[in-house]
Amino acid sequence: MGDKSTITTQEKSFGFHTRSVHAGSRPDPATGARALPIFQTTSYVFENSESAAAYFNLQEYGNTYSRIMNPTVAAFEERLANLDGGVGAVAFASGLAAQSATFFTMLNPGDHVIASAALYGGSVTQLKHLFRKLSVELDFVDPDNLDAWRGALRENTKLLFAETIGNPGGNVLDIQAVADIAHAHATPLMVDNTFATPYLNRPLEWGADIVVYSATKFLGGHGTSIAGAVIESGEFDWSNGRFPVIAEPSPAYHGLAFHETFGTFGFLMKLRAETLRDLGAALSPFNAFLIAQGLETLPLRMKQHVSNARAVAEFLSNHQQVDRVSYPGLRSSPYLALVDKYLPKGPGAVFCFDIVGGRAAGLAFIESLTLFSHLANVGDAKSLVIHPASTTHRQLSEPELTAAGIGPGTIRLSVGIEDSDDLIWDLAQGLEAAAARGLERVED
Ligand SMILES: *Cc1c(COP(=O)(O)O)cnc(C)c1O
Repeated sequence: MGDKSTITTQEKSFGFHTRSVHAGSRPDPATGARALPIFQTTSYVFENSESAAAYFNLQEYGNTYSRIMNPTVAAFEERLANLDGGVGAVAFASGLAAQSATFFTMLNPGDHVIASAALYGGSVTQLKHLFRKLSVELDFVDPDNLDAWRGALRENTKLLFAETIGNPGGNVLDIQAVADIAHAHATPLMVDNTFATPYLNRPLEWGADIVVYSATKFLGGHGTSIAGAVIESGEFDWSNGRFPVIAEPSPAYHGLAFHETFGTFGFLMKLRAETLRDLGAALSPFNAFLIAQGLETLPLRMKQHVSNARAVAEFLSNHQQVDRVSYPGLRSSPYLALVDKYLPKGPGAVFCFDIVGGRAAGLAFIESLTLFSHLANVGDAKSLVIHPASTTHRQLSEPELTAAGIGPGTIRLSVGIEDSDDLIWDLAQGLEAAAARGLERVED
């Protein structure tokens, strides 16, 4: 196949499965290696002093130092940007590093951010404490309420931020409507698409400007590596007068005006050449290899994740010990119309339910499971379970917990790719154990 396997040289537009396997990598020209090589190197020999200077001036694009770019990391970035339909991507050491870097690239002290109140707990903490400390102003809104988004806009609002599928309430974002609200205010919309992945939804196609991922989850897919990424559409007009931080000459890069010089790549170039350079949260080549390997089977895994999640959600919603199942794929879900529009292949595989008997029943249930592992992660091939109120969302106050839809008996599942009848067997015996624990208490 030789060079013909580079997706971009083909005239045919390839499908999602093909691009998951081929985008961003081709047989290594130096060795013929077919798998993506792990370029475990910090730095790269310059051809001559002139090209070294050109690289550092960003007049030529080439490898200098692996904090800023690395060929294995670049293959992962190109594959993901291709799957999401963006102009490019920048990888980071974690999802939260990807978000921090985006905020640092576009915000100044005194700027205002409107974020969904149903964000991942770590994202809430990051904004509420770290970025407030840096004088970024902040409002959290109910992501389902379009008037709340509109009402929170201020002169200094520079970013709207939400998740495709909120955690743990299962809120599905009306991406197009929120993007319209943002754009009417000359402001970008950033979407955390971790729970959907580009297989289930591509937010850029619905008007989002920036997509961020915790690649730690479904993209890598096997619970092996922490990683993150930022993808941009290249369509937002950063020279609209509201983002001098990107449009005007940068003192941190000897007066380079990123938007003017690099056009649609301006934001991503600044994100890499300045923010990644300065924050230093670079993805290691080895982890980039594992995530890129994960992407090859993303569509196959997501199909199985979704079909198992549906089966499990239906089983739970018919069980007498279960109060509420917040899987947006159930017919009873208030998000059904949004799922049809944005997630026609299914609303992912992470959701919550409330167990009858509250905290004690919840903990007894988790302790009796055998296939579901009790841990703080989602998006693994293996099924996972956690009690958010005592773990992932522990930093949140009572009102914040309620706003995020988390009660004392709320249990979060990340449904894996095992056989669904085995998963249902495990959940059924866990519910039995929880009921037995309840009886013991009554008799006490
Ligand atoms: C895990 C997660 C993050 C944070 O990602 P890390 O890779 O752990 O830094 C952000 N958003 C969502 C939705 C997540 O699930």
